[in-house]
Parts: sequence; structure tokens; C-alpha cells
Amino acid sequence: KEAKAKMPVYKGLEQFKLLDKMGDGAFSNVYKALDLSTGKKVAVKVVRKFELNAAQRSNILKEVQIMRGTNHPAIVRLLSFSESPEHYFIVLELMEGGELFHQIVKLTYFSENLSRHVILQVAQGIRYLHEERGVVHRDIKPENLLFDRIPIVPSKHPVKRPYDEEKEDEGEFIPGVGGGGIGRVKIADFGLSKVVWNEETMTPCGTVGYTAPEIVKDERYSKSVDMWALGCVLYTLLCGFPPFYDESINVLTEKVARGYYTFLSPWWDDISGSAKDLISHLLCVDPAQRYTIDEFLSHPWCTASPAPPPPPT
Ligand code: ADP
Ligand code: MG
Repeated sequence: KEAKAKMPVYKGLEQFKLLDKMGDGAFSNVYKALDLSTGKKVAVKVVRKFELNAAQRSNILKEVQIMRGTNHPAIVRLLSFSESPEHYFIVLELMEGGELFHQIVKLTYFSENLSRHVILQVAQGIRYLHEERGVVHRDIKPENLLFDRIPIVPSKHPVKRPYDEEKEDEGEFIPGVGGGGIGRVKIADFGLSKVVWNEETMTPCGTVGYTAPEIVKDERYSKSVDMWALGCVLYTLLCGFPPFYDESINVLTEKVARGYYTFLSPWWDDISGSAKDLISHLLCVDPAQRYTIDEFLSHPWCTASPAPPPPPT
């Protein structure tokens, strides 16, 4: 491993000692840090204010506002929020495993049992957001699903993707996953999330009687964007490559618009019909037909043993 890069020092963040960089965003850096007041490790998302316009600033505040209201084992916890003239500091529960999901998906596929173990955690988080908080996440993807720790497991499932041509996966070894060695998965990044339902009344936000039908419909269907994304994540977990892919962005856009995907042989040959049935109810173009989170969770593939939803921590 390379020598550790020197960590920047931010005015207004004296309570924390930055240890390592964990991620990069367009306007932010995420660091592993030590909270000097408690001795605990945390993650700090440092957002550069000056690069943001007014709308983007208010989005950060909205992200924090939405995270403040959440409390669920499958949602990354917000610990504190502060700002200096130049930065916003979003202090989060540290997910030591980082975007391991992404890393694993890059090289491997998961067994059906392990996929179930992972996806049920994500789904419980989405159920909480949709049904209890009236929130749509709108950016569910492997980069925003974080592992609480690095899994210790010794099996490797190299996968040669259909579009990889003759390129073999190079021997970079990422520990594979067996049994329960994988820990917890949590949903992060509420930067695009939106409150669509009033929590107390479970009615659309705004004055109900005066809300236009397209808004009411919009809000009903907006949750279904998370269900589509959940379908894409599940597909990717099971075979190691995403359902929609093309080198040309135009062709890819067209494939997504038509919902054109296949259970490509030989990769999908040994995957159960039940898993395929579930995916087909998520990757369906008509949002009115798409499974809701409750329909997802009661599908036989999800309720099958041996992987009941993990106990809350
Ligand atoms: P952006 O809006 O820029 O995508 P994210 O909140 O998704 O910001 O953070 C960017 C990246 O930083 C994530 O994809 C992840 O790799 C890392 N990251 C974010 N939050 C945490 C956390 N709590 N623990 C560990 N890594 C994190
Ligand atoms: Mg992100």
C-alpha cells in the first residue's frame, strides 16, 4: 500500500482528526476520522460551499434534514452537522467496509442466499423510508450501499461478463464471500432524496384538496424509482453484471427506456426461476405494474429460508 497521503486541515473541524480518505464526490470528500471528544471513529463528509449554487446548498440542507429524521439499522446514521464559512461538515456513522459492494460486484457474483441476505437489508431500509418516513431515496446504486465492515471470507467467483470480450479478470484478489461473513449493508447518500408523503397524515405533501392529479400520481409513482433500482442491484448481485449495459450511451438509454434486458445464458442458467420472476416484477417499464416494497418483501424468493432478515443491531 502506498504511503498515506497527508490529510487536509479544515477550519471548523478541530474536533476531528482526519485519518483516511474514503470517497470522493463532485463537491465533497468523505474521510475516515477520529472524533477527539469521544475517541470514536466516524465518517465526515466535507462539502465545499463555494462550488455550490443556492439550489445545491439548499439540497445539502435537505439531505441533512431527511437524514436527521431517520433511525433504522439499514440507513447510515447522521451523527452531527455543522458548518464553517467555507464548508459543510456532515458527520456520519463510519462504514468501514466502504463501497465494498461495488468492489465485489466488479469481480464476482453472489450466491442466491448471499444475494438474499444483502438485498433484504437494503429492502428493509427502503421499506422504512417509503412506508414510515414518506421518503424516496432516488439514488439507490452499489456506490451508495455501504458495508459496515470488511468481510472476511475466502471464496472467489470470478466472472467474465458478456461484454468483456477476451479480457480475463486480472488476478486482483478481493475476498469473496461465504455464509454470514459479510456483516451489515446500509443505504447512504440522501443527496437526491425527497419527501413525498406527509409523515403524520400519509397524504401527499402540500394541501391535499388543491393538489393536481399529476402531482398525486407522481408522488405515488416516485417510490417506484427505488424499486427499479433495487431490481438492477439484485440482478447485478446474482450474475455480476448489470441488466442494462451498452458502450453507446444512446443505445443504453434506449434499452432502459424499453426495459430491454435478458437473463443471458450461460450466466443465468443456474439461477432459480423464482429469482427471475421477482426481477421481472421490478424491471418492468410501467411503474403502476412494478412491485411495491411490500410486494417485493412478500415474494417467495424473499421469504424463502435459509436467510431470514438479519436481526436489528
Ligand atoms: P456523493 O453525493 O458525492 O455521491 P456520498 O454521500 O455518496 O456523496 O459519498 C461519496 C462516497 O464516500 C460514497 O460512495 C462512499 O464511498 C463514501 N462514503 C460516504 N459515506 C460514508 C460512510 N458513512 N462511511 C464510509 N464511507 C462513506
Ligand atoms: Mg453517492
